[in-house]
Amino acid sequence: MYRIELNEESTIVYDPIMLSKIVEERVMYLDNNRFFRKYYRFRATNFYGGSATGDVIGCNLYCKYCWSLGINKYSNLKNIGFYMGPEEAALKLLEIAAKNNFRYIRLSGGEPTIGFNHVIQLLKMVNGFTSFNKIRFILETNGILIGYGKEYVEELLKFPFVIVRVSLKGCSPDEFKTITGVCGEFYEYQLKAIEYLFEYNVDTIIAVTIGFCSKESFTRLIERLLRIREDIIYRIELEVAKLYPNVIKMLYEAKLFPWIAVDPKENILLRGEDVEQFIRKRYKEYRESDHTDISKL
Ligand code: SF4
Repeated sequence: MYRIELNEESTIVYDPIMLSKIVEERVMYLDNNRFFRKYYRFRATNFYGGSATGDVIGCNLYCKYCWSLGINKYSNLKNIGFYMGPEEAALKLLEIAAKNNFRYIRLSGGEPTIGFNHVIQLLKMVNGFTSFNKIRFILETNGILIGYGKEYVEELLKFPFVIVRVSLKGCSPDEFKTITGVCGEFYEYQLKAIEYLFEYNVDTIIAVTIGFCSKESFTRLIERLLRIREDIIYRIELEVAKLYPNVIKMLYEAKLFPWIAVDPKENILLRGEDVEQFIRKRYKEYRESDHTDISKL
């Protein structure tokens, strides 16, 4: 039986594999051999030099720097978003890409590997459009489910136009636990996902949100990744957390202050103690503002 409970440190304890199954029941259904998946929106974005993006909802982690946690929380899944079949979703993405002359289409927002059957059907559709053969599909994932089951990689292999972008939550099991609230042993699934993807030669990018990693943990992570492939360094992208209002609230309440972050409003890079000061100041402003209900951030 799945449960979310608080331990003595008031940390949420949950099993992301079990949570995936429960979330899947809420964000996907099967009708006439078609897997319908819940989306939040479709949009044109500047990421990867321009990409058509479908934001799915539902995730198996609760990261404290997640801009989309509000729409991914299990309790919100029922009331947010809309279902879409694989054909409609593929067409929508290709339409946005064609209109904007984009080379990339992607699934983002929540965790797309929850409801993986929908992704596979969508990829088959994209594959069927030969006129779109220059299109690359980016699957943005935390990798937990891929690390749990190699068969995900075996399926993805059938679609050479796929790029998988695994976003690591911290550089060590301890940092993973601090960020997600999940027992550190699940961090291994993220690393396993990378191992499997490289073993099968799937085009893979590894994203690391560096502000939550120490110098030591980052070094150890690189050493571990180098054991997977010696040129893996060229597949690593460093990310910096963006301090949206809901992220400020979560980080402040967790007393978790990255050493580098971005103020997305002013597009300013903050470093060192400035990050903590900024988070404390903005949190106080939100609390004191008549217009901001901070409990809803
Ligand atoms: S894995 Fe991604 S979508 Fe899920 S909570 Fe973390 S940052 Fe958000």
